[in-house]
Amino acid sequence: MPAVTVENPLVLPRITRPGLAATDRAPRTIVTATKQMEGAGFEVRRPFPSMDLRDADPFILLDHLGEVAYEPEEAKGAPWHPHRGFETVTYLLDGTFVHHDSHGGGGTINEGDTQWMTAGSGVLHDELPAEELVAKGGWFHGVQLWVNLPRAQKWVDPRYQDLRGSELTMLTSDDGGALVRLIAGELAGHRGPGWTYTPIAYAHASLNPGAQLNTPWPSEFTAMVYVLSGEGTVGAERRPLTEGQLAVLGPGDSISVTAADRQHNRTGALEVLLLGGKPINERVVQYGPFVMSDEREILQAIQDYQAGKMGSVPAEHVSGGRPGE
Ligand code: MN
Repeated sequence: MPAVTVENPLVLPRITRPGLAATDRAPRTIVTATKQMEGAGFEVRRPFPSMDLRDADPFILLDHLGEVAYEPEEAKGAPWHPHRGFETVTYLLDGTFVHHDSHGGGGTINEGDTQWMTAGSGVLHDELPAEELVAKGGWFHGVQLWVNLPRAQKWVDPRYQDLRGSELTMLTSDDGGALVRLIAGELAGHRGPGWTYTPIAYAHASLNPGAQLNTPWPSEFTAMVYVLSGEGTVGAERRPLTEGQLAVLGPGDSISVTAADRQHNRTGALEVLLLGGKPINERVVQYGPFVMSDEREILQAIQDYQAGKMGSVPAEHVSGGRPGE
């Protein structure tokens, strides 16, 4: 079963429906994610940055991986590469990822888990499907979100937050038909486990057919709804939204998402991400894996990387192969 679920959502804390005085945030733009290849050759859908949505402050990028059923030897990852100036947040719904970094860190992310990596001043890492997933094939589904760091925090020391699926804050909608996994930030007075330098809210919700999720959302935050899988509508006006589409919502203080009465996907539910945050409102210059505040800092990042100042690949991983290969 993908992601973390509970047998009976009715026992979970409920997100109280916002009052009549609340202003529902209406969709302002609908973006259809574009497909592209990443890493050693895996396909991602990327709603932003894109031609339709260049700026999603305080976020930089959202990559949707899968959902895909890999054949044996088909799964690929991203071999060693650097990052500086932001945080990568990898959330897995299905499958297993392993990662290593230049500081000797690393671990395994299983379905339902989130790996939060603050690249800060710089880190080298790899992100690969688990050996068994590569050998045998199998389902894979995940997302990677890039959260920008304010200029003053771009040089913090790299660090990880490994959030197990069991640590996520589990909530349900007022009608009990939606399961909400709060990954970071606050939702309707409940707090998720992820800790961020810049305030955000990030949740994965599964809505049963016909269910509605209506939740308060801070008016000073941006607000977006991305469909991982399934069919539904967003806003009081019920704008249709389908897999691979992102709705950028306008001003207000609540979000509403409704699942279509029939779902034809693997989980039988509308799977959405709710995300937004307080805009950092600073200049952003992105060059590949570096997100800085100006061109000079980008040049410095390239030089520092080439000079090995972001660390080096640990000796036991240099070959990239298994012992004896
Ligand atoms: Mn990376």
